[in-house]
Amino acid sequence: MNDIPDEACRCGCGGMTTPHVRTGKPQRFINGHQNRKPLAYRAEERGYPSPCWIWVGSIAATGYGTFTRDRVKHAAHRWAWSQHHGKPVPAGMLICHHCDIRSCVRWDHLFLGTSADNVHDAQRKYRTRGGGVLGSSRPTQQGELHVLAKLTAGSVRDIRRRYATESTSERKLASEYHVTRGAIRRVLNRTSWRHIKD
Ligand SMILES: [Zn+2]
Ligand SMILES: [Zn+2]
Repeated sequence: MNDIPDEACRCGCGGMTTPHVRTGKPQRFINGHQNRKPLAYRAEERGYPSPCWIWVGSIAATGYGTFTRDRVKHAAHRWAWSQHHGKPVPAGMLICHHCDIRSCVRWDHLFLGTSADNVHDAQRKYRTRGGGVLGSSRPTQQGELHVLAKLTAGSVRDIRRRYATESTSERKLASEYHVTRGAIRRVLNRTSWRHIKD
């Protein structure tokens, strides 16, 4: 079964795209998400209230989905969490699964936790039953996002135009474009993206 609608943003953030203005067809990405990695997954019922999004790609021996980008190996569930929240996984934190399916990359099945949370969670779900060694079931720390939301010349123009013409704020724009307020401010006061004149 596959309940992933055509309108779902391909980055796996959980957002829905709007139809293309001319063709009326669903767009692949929400505005501002075009530079993100499309997440490959299929929806499967795995006993959790909503279907899991099972990673379609390499699965590490630990059970987590992985992929390589720019010669860096990443954990798919950590990447998925980052794309949904629009920020890197905070240093030292783990991304845990409500559904207990490690290859699941569905944003609302993932939560930020400490290794203590993960251990507690594993115990609660009996993941460690049968003499399982927690040390070997600990999620990988790799997979920090190096490049998450990068602005493009197009989005920089949009941001400047919208700030000048609409009632919006740095904060709103930051959350819409998944960058920091500082990044928006630098775009607006032209300490960044100076070469974009129009
Ligand atoms: Zn998205
Ligand atoms: Zn899941």
